[in-house]
Parts: sequence; structure tokens; C-alpha cells
Amino acid sequence: MNDDWSLTYEGYEPDKEGLREVLCALGNGHIVSRAAAADVSADDVHYPGTYFSGGYNRLTTEIDGHQIENEDLVNLPNWLPLVMQIDDDEAIHPDRVEFLAYRQQLNLKDGVLTRNLRFRDAAGRVSRWDEKRIVSMDNQHLAALAVTVTPENWSGPVTFRSSLDGSVINWGVPRYRKLNGRHLETVDCNVDDGAILTLRSRMVQARREIALAAHTRVEIEGETIKPARTEAEKGVASGIYVCEAQEGRPIHVEKTVTYFNSKDYAITEPLQEALQLVRYAGPFAEILHAHTQAWHQLWEQCDIRVRTTQDGAQFKLRLHIFHLLQTALHSVGVDVGVPPRGWHGEAYRGHIMWDELFIFPYLNLRMPVVTRALLHYRYRRLGEARRMAREAGLKGAMFPWQSGSNGREESQRIHLNPMSGRWISDNSWRQRHIGAAICYNVWQYFQATDDRDFLIDYGAELFCEIARFWSSLAKRRDDGRYGINGVMGPDEFHTAYPGADPATEGGLNNNAYTNVMVSWLLSRAFDVLDVLPSDRRRRLCERLDLKEEEFARWRDISCNLVIPFHDDGIISQFEGYGDLLEFDWAGYREKYGDLQRLDRILEKEGDDPNRYKISKQADVLMIFYLFSREEIEEILHRLGYPFSPDLIFKNVHYYNQRTSHGSSLSWLTHAWVLARADRQKSWQLTLTALGGDLTDIQDGTTREGIHLGAMAGTVDLIQRCYSGIEMRDGVLAFNPRLPDEVLQMNATLRYRRHTLDVEVTQDCLTVSSRVMTAHPIRIAYREHSRELSPGQSFTFDLVQEHKPDRPARERAQEQARKECPIGTESEAA
Ligand code: BGC
Repeated sequence: MNDDWSLTYEGYEPDKEGLREVLCALGNGHIVSRAAAADVSADDVHYPGTYFSGGYNRLTTEIDGHQIENEDLVNLPNWLPLVMQIDDDEAIHPDRVEFLAYRQQLNLKDGVLTRNLRFRDAAGRVSRWDEKRIVSMDNQHLAALAVTVTPENWSGPVTFRSSLDGSVINWGVPRYRKLNGRHLETVDCNVDDGAILTLRSRMVQARREIALAAHTRVEIEGETIKPARTEAEKGVASGIYVCEAQEGRPIHVEKTVTYFNSKDYAITEPLQEALQLVRYAGPFAEILHAHTQAWHQLWEQCDIRVRTTQDGAQFKLRLHIFHLLQTALHSVGVDVGVPPRGWHGEAYRGHIMWDELFIFPYLNLRMPVVTRALLHYRYRRLGEARRMAREAGLKGAMFPWQSGSNGREESQRIHLNPMSGRWISDNSWRQRHIGAAICYNVWQYFQATDDRDFLIDYGAELFCEIARFWSSLAKRRDDGRYGINGVMGPDEFHTAYPGADPATEGGLNNNAYTNVMVSWLLSRAFDVLDVLPSDRRRRLCERLDLKEEEFARWRDISCNLVIPFHDDGIISQFEGYGDLLEFDWAGYREKYGDLQRLDRILEKEGDDPNRYKISKQADVLMIFYLFSREEIEEILHRLGYPFSPDLIFKNVHYYNQRTSHGSSLSWLTHAWVLARADRQKSWQLTLTALGGDLTDIQDGTTREGIHLGAMAGTVDLIQRCYSGIEMRDGVLAFNPRLPDEVLQMNATLRYRRHTLDVEVTQDCLTVSSRVMTAHPIRIAYREHSRELSPGQSFTFDLVQEHKPDRPARERAQEQARKECPIGTESEAA
């Protein structure tokens, strides 16, 4: 039961607990803490993980005789423990009581988690537990909880044990449990005179120090209860409070915790800062007030309001924005990237991948300062990317598919198929398209902000070094075209040619998506260089030793890369794709039901996904996701391939039937590319993507972390796709086509220093620029282009322009569907 601002769970369901911990996680971009109960430790039901953004450590494990080194996002000491024990009985634990009432609610507007429970213990005593919890958005080092316990039918001694637990390990992802997970060592663990608990831990390899301090206040009717004793041993510091409970008399407990680490700014030493802040943080009510105010201000900038014919979309959008903000905020001035699974769990070990391609567009048009900071994560790792290219015998910068602390390749070389129990070779590091995504992100950021300084100081260098890498990888073929071999596209089902040994002969030739991206970026590099003042351009070229011959090669490659085709106008995902076998979707669906992870199913059967025309996720279709029709036409034209208006429809239809949506990114990409051709189908897919984590459709993996690319991507789908926003040549163009189910959309965008209020309905588009000092911008709706100054507002009539009358529009849609029937069985996967 959810309203537009809250996620509510009624009743305790142990098998859903991991999922709820993630969906109700609290964070501020610096720390994220899963919503585990305060009285549990890690087991098969509960996982109280807390993480710092970018808090990585490396460990080695021996597997099958190989030494495997992994860099993981470290599970930090647990700040939550607050355990209640009545009399001398076993401590209260969710799995040992009978719940008479259970309500857990995440309030998105305030960023507050509440847990209202009523339970009967083994001795028949009934108690209430009313809890509020926050991770402060106002102070990134602060977390707090306040609990009121009411004995309903009993009186007697009750003990509260409030602890900081430094004995935790990384244990959140069952597939990784065979790997060494002991990332922390306790440096010291103490309780001071004022019963403040302190804990100092260190990451064993990264040597980063983490300090926590906790202050607990226990009160009954205004009387403060002093701790009966304190303990500090084996990495756990505890204060033990014993009170005489009386039936009906509430006991209040507040716990305030501070987290610092040795990489934080403006600190002397983490523990000293943690102690200082916990002493002066004030009572829970004060911390809560500042925190909710910070959230309210964030929502003013970040909310997107939709009015739809169905319930639920508004809430889901907000949930996605909420988790995006909890992950990405406070990244400014900090050396972190944005991870695909949030800082909410240990999936993908918190590594940074290409998912920022789906995440940045929302931030570009809201908080470009955050995108700028996150692009710096890439710029700072340019040195390592150059080293990796050199080591591979190439030039320029080769960015890793998975990146952690210092930008080396963190992708695993073998992974466990949980269905077969076998460790199999992992070729995903061959996804070199990550570098192209970085260029695309730089260009999009620039389009949204006109931040020339960023391009001059950082962006152009990134662009040129990535362009140089592709130019060194592309090879002239006998037919005169250039080819790029041995890579993987976004679809992770295809890792090598059938029969090839993936470990030694991995990768595919001429992945169409990669080649289109490379053609685009090699030609865009000149536009980037054109932005640079002549002296800066000269100095950059001198420094990188970029000469005219190299530019000539870029031009040549950008016009002559090969794009494979098969059948009649189908872009082949890679060369040879057309020769692969068709797959028996119906038969396998009957046998297995869910086919999202067909790769695992086939491997278990001793078969190989490389043999079939199947995709885990959008690959060719990524082209239509990232580029407008005009841009695609331009790219294909440059490459000397024909473009016909039905090319997009045909390809969308073709791949739509052959995709299992084994990645959460796939639903939204398909929703996007169908937005114009089949708005109804597109909206259905959007709803699936919006509900993805809530219903845990991605193979039950949400408990290991949110799917942030999909979360942010769905928000962007509503924001940019359905309002047809395109930023090109300094113009902010709109071309709205809301699905019939969406009646209205309101958003506040930042574009080139303007704050724009945008309203889209089925009938009109209004763009208003708030009063401020800024140069005018150019906005457009179809062929109507206008200059917009701060304080001005324009309304465009969509009915006149776009839809002469509704029946005519419906007829046109009907016709389009007949010509290109899109949306068939496999989408139901
Ligand atoms: C997808 C990748 C994605 C990763 C993290 C994988 O399942 O195939 O494209 O980057 O998940 O979201």
C-alpha cells in the first residue's frame, strides 16, 4: 500500500526482507545504510550492510588453484545494533517473536524510515516498538535512530544493548561467499566516560581508516537511564542499559552515530571528528528537522510530477529519484563514480560501469555540478586508461569495463553460474564500448550546460585520448573499410564466436553499436576541439602529440567503419550474427518459465548462448536509444550506408523478439525505442521498468543492490523521451508525445544556467524560464524555434501542430502498426 510519497509494507515476510532492506535503504551519497532491523546480524534473512561511496578494498582468494584478486565495496562496521532483552530471556529478534502488527514505511519526502511493530514474545509478553531512522541529508557523517518501546501487558527488568559492530564481513551476495570477505581489521574499540562508543577500523589492503562514534540516550518519563555497564571486545563496543519497565509506560531510546574516514575532507583524524560531531549533534528531533528540511529542498529541484490514468507511476518515479539522489549526492569534490547498483549492496562490488550513460541525463538537467564531479572520476583515471592501452599494444586511453579505486580493470575473469555451480570464463571486460559512453557523456553534459571550461580543461583530453584508442584498434580491411575486432557489445550473451574458446579467442568482430559509437565520436572529436580557444587547442595537441595525419585517420575511420547487415535491412549485432541459429523461445519458456538469464540456463545444459540469435539486452537498439532519427541518418550517411525511414522500425521489431531482458537496462531501452512507433507497448514496458526493483523482477537480485541505471533511466524516459527533449547545436528542442495514459508531466530543468519549468499535457507544451540573470537560450518545438529569456514563458499548441484530430492520429498509429507490427511474445519474458 503506497501513496505518492511513501513505500509501505504491512506484515513481516522473512523471504522479502533482503529486498525491503534495499528498497528502504537510507543514504546521503556519502554513506548508504540498508534498512535491516536494528536487532539482527547478518544471516540468510537479514543483512545490515552500510557502505561509504567509493569505499573499496582488495583481497585475494584461491579458487580452483588460481589466485583471484577482487576489489570490493567494503561493508562498514554496523551502526544499527539496538537489542532488547526482557528479564533473562533470549534477546528479542524478529524471527523469534509473533508479530501482532508490523508496518514499515519509507517516507520519500522526508527521507525517514519508520517501523511500527507490535509483537508477542515466547513468554506471552506483548510490546510495541516504534522506530524512526535517518541517514542525515544535512550532515553526511550522521545517522540516527529513535525508538519508543511500550510494554503492553508486562512489567519487569528490560535491557537494551546499543553497539557498534566492527566484526562484520562482506557477505551480501551469495555468489561471492566463496571469496575472502574479511576487509576490515579493528584498530581500537572503546567506550569513553560519557558512555560514547567508539570504533576504529582499517581496510586491510587500502589502509583507509574508518571511525564511528555512537551516543545512546535511554529515558523513561524524563528520567535518563545511565548504562549499567559497557563492553568493548572483539571489535564490538556496547553500552548496556537496564531499566525497570512498567506496563503502559513508554521507554525512549535515541542512538546517534557518526561516520568518518581518513579520506574525508576538512578533518584531522577520523575518530576525533567522529567524537566531536557525536557530542555536538544534538537530540534526534534537531537532527531530524535539519534532515527533512534538506530533503524538502532537494525535492523542490528534483521532483517530476506526472498525472496518469493508472495509480502508482508517480510514487515509483519518486522512489527512483530518491535512490538516485541517495547515491549521487555529495559526490562533488569527492573522488567517486556512480555505481550501477547504488551504494546499497555488494553486487558488482560497487564497481563503476557504463550505467552512468543512463544516469547522467537526469543529473545533467537537474544538478549538472554532480555530473561534472562524476566525469572527473573518469578524468582522474585517464593515466591508468593510457597505461592499459599501452599494455595492450594500443594507443590513447582504454577505459576498463569495471572500475574501482584506481581505475584498473576490475572485471572478474571467471564467474560462478549459480545454476550449474561451475566457474566459467568471463569475457565482459571486452566491452570496450565503455570508452565511447564516456565521450557521449562528456558531450551530453556540454550540451546541457555549455560548460566550455570543462571541455577545455578535461573533456577534450578525454575525448582525444579515447578517439586515439579507437583509431589504433580499428584496422583497414581488404574491402577498404575499417573493422574493430575482438570486442563485446552491450549484450553479454555473446562473448565469442560459436566453438571458439572464450578464454583465448574471445570477442566478436564489428559490433554494430560499437562501430556506430566510434564513428560518431571520431567525428565529434573535431567539434570538441573547435570549442577550444586556439592556444588551448595548440597546447593540447602538442602535449598529446596530435598531428594532422592522425586527424586524417580519424576522419577516414569515421567515414569507413563497417556496419554489418543481414536479411533485408537488419543491422547485424556483429559480423556473423545473421548465420546464428534461431532460438526456440516457446519451448524454453515452457520448460523454464523465466528466460532472463538464458546464458546460465544454456551453460547448465552444456550448450552455449553464442550459437543463437538471442540477446540479454538492447545492443543494436542502443543506437536508437542514444541517437535521434536525424543523427542516425547522418551517421549512416557518413558511413555510406542507406537510411530508410523503416530501418528503425524494422530493427526494433527484429531485436524485440530476440531479447530476454536479462539486464534491467533492457526494459527501459526498449520502452524508449518504441515510444514513437507503439506508444501503448512502450508505456507497458515503462511500467515494467518502473516496477523493476519493487517487484524484484531481475532474477531476484535487488536484494544485492538497486538497479540504478534502470531507476535513473526510467525517470529520464518520462523526462526526455516522452517530451521529446533533444539538445543539439545549442538548441533545447521539444517534441512531446505523451502516452495516452499520461495526462500531464511537470518538471523543473536546469539548462545552460536557466531554470525552466516545463509542463507537457496531451494538448500543449509550456516552457517558462524563472527570473534570474542569464543569457537567452534557444528552445524549439518542431520547426518553431524561439529565443527564451529569463522570466519569459511560451506555450505551444500540440493539437494544432501534431494531432489535427484524435481519430486521425489513432488511424495513423494503426497504419504504422500494420506496416511494422512491433511487440511480440518475447517481451513477456
Ligand atoms: C548488464 C550491463 C550492466 C550491468 C550493471 C549487467 O547485467 O549486462 O550492461 O552494466 O549489469 O547494471
